Amino acid sequence: MSLEGLERLLTRMAGTIVSHWVMVAIVCALLFVVFRPFFRRRKIQDSPYGASLFRHELIFSALTLGASAATIGFLWGTLRRAGLMSFASTPATWYVVLGEFAVYFLAFDLYFYATHRVMHLGPVYRWVHKTHHRSTAPNPLTAFSFNPLEGVLAGGFLPVFLAAFEVHREALGLIGPFQIFMSMYVHCGHEMMPAWWYRTRATRWFITPMFHDQHHQLYRCNYGGFTTIWDRVFGTVNPSFERDFDALKARLARPAAPAGPVATDPA
Ligand SMILES: [Zn+2]
Ligand SMILES: [Zn+2]
Repeated sequence: MSLEGLERLLTRMAGTIVSHWVMVAIVCALLFVVFRPFFRRRKIQDSPYGASLFRHELIFSALTLGASAATIGFLWGTLRRAGLMSFASTPATWYVVLGEFAVYFLAFDLYFYATHRVMHLGPVYRWVHKTHHRSTAPNPLTAFSFNPLEGVLAGGFLPVFLAAFEVHREALGLIGPFQIFMSMYVHCGHEMMPAWWYRTRATRWFITPMFHDQHHQLYRCNYGGFTTIWDRVFGTVNPSFERDFDALKARLARPAAPAGPVATDPA
């Protein structure tokens, strides 16, 4: 299927970019349920998930998705009406679309790292980001459970990026679903990647669920959203991360592995 065909199919199935995102979330959740035995063998922390935490994550997910959608809608309409946002009209070859996607990937990764570091500053953490860190052992719903202010910050990035860089519609067809998939992937609480992941030059730059899981356990390290690049540049990777990753993979490889540690929020 051509990229144009894929875009048409996505548009027919979902209608708007926000419903694209919701659709990906539903598909990921269904996969998680259908392949439960596969995931159960790869659980990072075996901590309890009570009704109060579920309620908290459900309420803040709804508020954050609403805030994010409203921000995207408002900025999208405003920038388009001002003539500041348009899509490229040149032929959408696969390598051009992938290049545009790569620019977005790197730009959002840097934006996320920078804003995430700010979110961990004293009062900002307590008043805003602590909402997300209520889960010390993340699960797919944690992917959306933020203070709505963070929904505004995250949602605002895409329209501003599209105003700054003219991309093809087809690139947007990749960006939206990828964004929501990555958020659910790093919060899924299960490690699927092989033991060599952080040892090879080709793969060690891309985060896996345990990388972000440790951020929820330890708070002051592993801030990256898509890659480990900025954590490595600024020295914020947990010093024992690679050893811990090896230990986790060894534990998961053993039958009937005992549960991992449960973190407590220090703030
Ligand atoms: Zn954080
Ligand atoms: Zn998180």
